[in-house]
Amino acid sequence: MQPRRFAWVEKVLKEITPKSSDFSQWYVDVIRKADMVDYAPMKGFMVMKPYSYRIWEFIQEQMDRRFKATGHQNAYFPLLIPEHLLAQEEEHIEGFSAEVAWVTMGGNEQLAERLAIRPTSETIIGAMYAQWIHSYRDLPVLINQWANVLRWEKATRPFLRTTEFLWQEGHTVHRTADEALAETLQQLEIYREVIEEYLAVPVIAGVKSAGERFAGAVDTYTLEALMGDGRALQSATSHFLGQHFSKAFQIQYLDEDGELKYGWTSSWGSSTRLIGAVIMVHGDDKGLRLPPKIAPIQVVIVPIGKGAEREAVVAHAKALEAQLANAFRVKLDDRDEFTPGYKFNDWEMRGVPLRVELGPKDLAKQQVVLARRDTGEKLSVSESQLVETVQHLLDAIQSELFRQALEFRESHTMSVESYQEMAQNGYRGFFRGDWCGSETCADHLKAETGMTIRCLPFNEEPVTGHCIVCGQTSRYRALFARAY
Ligand code: AMP
Repeated sequence: MQPRRFAWVEKVLKEITPKSSDFSQWYVDVIRKADMVDYAPMKGFMVMKPYSYRIWEFIQEQMDRRFKATGHQNAYFPLLIPEHLLAQEEEHIEGFSAEVAWVTMGGNEQLAERLAIRPTSETIIGAMYAQWIHSYRDLPVLINQWANVLRWEKATRPFLRTTEFLWQEGHTVHRTADEALAETLQQLEIYREVIEEYLAVPVIAGVKSAGERFAGAVDTYTLEALMGDGRALQSATSHFLGQHFSKAFQIQYLDEDGELKYGWTSSWGSSTRLIGAVIMVHGDDKGLRLPPKIAPIQVVIVPIGKGAEREAVVAHAKALEAQLANAFRVKLDDRDEFTPGYKFNDWEMRGVPLRVELGPKDLAKQQVVLARRDTGEKLSVSESQLVETVQHLLDAIQSELFRQALEFRESHTMSVESYQEMAQNGYRGFFRGDWCGSETCADHLKAETGMTIRCLPFNEEPVTGHCIVCGQTSRYRALFARAY
């Protein structure tokens, strides 16, 4: 049968706005055309289609395995939080009030107390912990919840900032401040490992400045990544909450010495935003480039040929698919209504790391052609070497994507002695500079340039000793960027 060509489909597929001409439009084109999301009927909400949801499942698997290996258990708390509980920790409610959506009716009746749709669950979980914890023997409490939350965000963008999003939130209680802090940092390290090793996105770890801290936290630790347009993305956060929430919710325990003491708590979260990071860090003008470890399809087989030849090729491709399926996530694209060229574009756009091409000549020579999505390189491989070569190439692609992302970040990171120097790069990229520690300087910088302090990276000391904004004595080395 002659392949039918849907000219309009091919045209649509090729219409991805170039990344360099309009990054935002490129992002939207890619997520729509790679079939990752659809817009919901309400502004700010999105539908995650199976292709992106599968990536979320891989992220979940990796995170969850590590949470459990470090002693955490999963539980589930209610979606709705009574107003009096949400308001119990002062800074928390002050920080979140503008983002909370409320349920005021139950059926046809007005509720006596408004119920907040959880923007995060420190409060309701804190209230429960207060009932569960009595003695030092009950500690630590190490619980994680996989859930959806809702924040009434003003500006939204699929994955990066949505009104409702999927995430995990860990909430722990400890006997001492040291233990709670160690937990906070341990979880940050778990995030770093998953984000760098699985998503191939390099991150910079540090602590947030007071102005950027989570509402109610003593300290917020963060991982900051640089996107392909030179903007930063806060990729995961871990909060040391001190005794703020335990005092607000009376999370107390009787210690070994017979004294009643407040617990020390932490909370930490990462969300579907991470999928946005993968798209923005690795994608190119042809579409997505997915790291093999989280690619829903790692290898796609495209048979080439017409008529009787095609039948033999497809039959053989099926055998190859069965062989590869033992070790990889593989798909055979034997749709006969599309040309091989169309299929190449289609799978490139969906970011499949490796393509196997098989034509009559390859069949005769018992070989296949392998094409890498990351570099575009092609090579012929004998069928007897196929499984090991695919494994080797997937490993190589995983490392290469990380290497390219790191190289991009390094070449878009600049040290500055005054904030005016940031204009040179059109405010794109990370800027390292000294900061006096005053929020007035941070606010001034933000108002004038849109730049914020992403974090105070670990193990960095002031270099010049002068704040890049006011010129006064500086106390910190900070990482600045415009952020999503
Ligand atoms: P937070 O509880 O504010 O520290 O948020 C935890 C993590 O969730 C952040 O580090 C972000 O990665 C992510 N996040 C926060 N707000 C949103 C949002 N509106 N959409 C998607 N992800 C978000």
